[in-house]
Amino acid sequence: MAKVTSTKMFADAYKNGYAVGAFNVNNMEIIQGITAAATELHAPLILQVSKGARAYANHIYLMKLIEAAIEDAQQNAGFDLPICVHLDHGDSFELCKSCIDGGFTSVMIDGSSKPYEENIKLTRQVVEYAHDHGVVVEGELGTLAGIEDEVKVSAADSSYTRPEEVEDFVNRTGVDSLAIAIGTSHGAYKFTADQCTRNEKGQLVPPPLRFDILTEVEKRLPGFPIVLHGSSSVPQEFVQKINAYGGKMPDAVGIPEEQLREAAKMAVCKINIDSDLRLAMTASIREHFALNPDHFDPRQYLKPAREAIKAMVMHKMIDVLGCDHRA
Ligand SMILES: [Zn+2]
Repeated sequence: MAKVTSTKMFADAYKNGYAVGAFNVNNMEIIQGITAAATELHAPLILQVSKGARAYANHIYLMKLIEAAIEDAQQNAGFDLPICVHLDHGDSFELCKSCIDGGFTSVMIDGSSKPYEENIKLTRQVVEYAHDHGVVVEGELGTLAGIEDEVKVSAADSSYTRPEEVEDFVNRTGVDSLAIAIGTSHGAYKFTADQCTRNEKGQLVPPPLRFDILTEVEKRLPGFPIVLHGSSSVPQEFVQKINAYGGKMPDAVGIPEEQLREAAKMAVCKINIDSDLRLAMTASIREHFALNPDHFDPRQYLKPAREAIKAMVMHKMIDVLGCDHRA
């Protein structure tokens, strides 16, 4: 199978109350870990590439690695692994155009930091070019707090999506999916201690997602796929392992998985996961070095790191997204 757009994935996810995982990729081991999980579970998959990932690994390497994963699944598992290759947080028409011309099947144009009318104008421009080339587009309304590559927004500058704007935005831009802000946040430090409460173990408990906004958006855009960014759960097992083996990540906190599962049953068809991949990989490598101080062959520590990514992604697909055996 060739690369695919997310159109069929989202239609099926909406109808059946699950979400497709959109995982950020930066190198071979990350791509292999994720695609091995999707192949084993027969799950539809979105691999997304940020501007930073493109700068790090180079567009052509990432594209060829993704194509290799599709070929590998076909040849070695007899499985047509459907992969949508998506640009995460495109910030200009030129960047989106370059990805569309370079083989991406989906792009995000993030005009959410611009005034409303400018966001519409820019998004519309990308949609026209993308649709002419068979590529789908994700837009964004509302602004998430947190840090992701070059996207940095303070809590004070973040804002929830205003449901009264969504129909107008979708109708005037022609976007195929919409990212909304309902309290998720980018990065591994999604909330400060004073935004949270603490549970009996002393761990931070973040404020609940605004399901009232999601419900209102769903009502206004029936059947339309919604996207959640900043939706890593920051599993405490990884944070504790990182801290136990010389790391320093105090009070790293994410979105509880039960809340993501609830959102996936609603209009949310795409859930973005990046930080959890980083944490799984880093925890594994830190542990490996601590337990095997004499190791210096990258294969010795990257192999278990790749396995850690695969295990984490399988857990997400089965227990959080519900997208296993949907491809
Ligand atoms: Zn994002």
